[in-house]
Amino acid sequence: SADHLSPAEKEYDKALRPLDFSDFTGQAKVVDNLKVFVGAAIMRGEALDHVLLHGPPGLGKTTLSHIIANSLGSSIKITSGPVLDKPSDLAGLLTNLEKNDVLFIDEIHRLNPIVEEYLYSAMEDYKIDIMLDSGPNARSVQISLNPFTLIGATTRSGLLTSPLRARFGINARLEYYDSKLLTSIVQRSAEILGSPIYEDAAFEIARRSRGTPRIANNLLRRTRDFAQIKGDGTITVEIAQFALNALDVDHNGLDEMDKRILMTIIDKFKGGPVGLSTIATACGDEAETIEEVYEPFLIQEGYIKRTSRGREATEAAYRHLGKIPPNHVR
Ligand code: ADP
Repeated sequence: SADHLSPAEKEYDKALRPLDFSDFTGQAKVVDNLKVFVGAAIMRGEALDHVLLHGPPGLGKTTLSHIIANSLGSSIKITSGPVLDKPSDLAGLLTNLEKNDVLFIDEIHRLNPIVEEYLYSAMEDYKIDIMLDSGPNARSVQISLNPFTLIGATTRSGLLTSPLRARFGINARLEYYDSKLLTSIVQRSAEILGSPIYEDAAFEIARRSRGTPRIANNLLRRTRDFAQIKGDGTITVEIAQFALNALDVDHNGLDEMDKRILMTIIDKFKGGPVGLSTIATACGDEAETIEEVYEPFLIQEGYIKRTSRGREATEAAYRHLGKIPPNHVR
């Protein structure tokens, strides 16, 4: 999602956003499956099944939704869970969809329950009830919608109700990108921007981007400024390191919250094991956010272990924070 971006950032975001599957790097399994489902829907002339995309922010959910719509030759209408106040907001969008169009609802876990319930019949039978008149003359009529595809995106799949989840025929989870994939994303972006970049410089940005294309593109943007002012515009590994250090980017790409989580486990709970909700309270965030947004990256990178008794900091976590690991974790 890109709601919170400034106009300049939106412009940048748009310039770098891949428009079709061949431009989209990584997530190979998800992409291969989507291509089959999209291809089959086109051959049958039917709407694609509803798609649920979940995974941490900045991994490409919005981008993939645009790509799906482009591949279908359909238009996409974009909204988000918190924006849809009442059923009539949703009815307005649904009745404007043409045959096989895509409706993208970002943050679908934040739908108002009344709106969510209203969505069920639309998803199931392409039908909705609308109210005509008010007072004693009020009556509802059922109207048919054009067949459409709902694409729901969420960072918090655990918060989706089961009736909603059950109505998605296609369910895909996006994973963090490894440094190699992110390196090619950075190289592609640099090329679009017309900024020469050495491969080792692209790799340096990639490995410090928390496995996330959006972060990689943002760091590239700032690094490019340093290359312009401190050099001749070419992004070398020295410039990249200088820029990333000046921006206080952690050398392994961890962000403030990642570090706070590790620090909490180590300093307040002797390295664990400690329960997720206890960590959440100590860090001042919700347990679900930690579990779905932060923890997957920390586990993947080997900083946290999940055990039956809770979360434990690993040797790498101690070392990363410049602390000496106690004997039992070495
Ligand atoms: P999400 O919706 O999951 O928060 P977005 O789709 O908005 O993430 O992606 C953020 C930005 O990262 C996009 O503007 C796009 O430029 C870039 N991006 C995401 N995934 C990829 C990818 N696989 N290849 C290249 N760029 C990507």
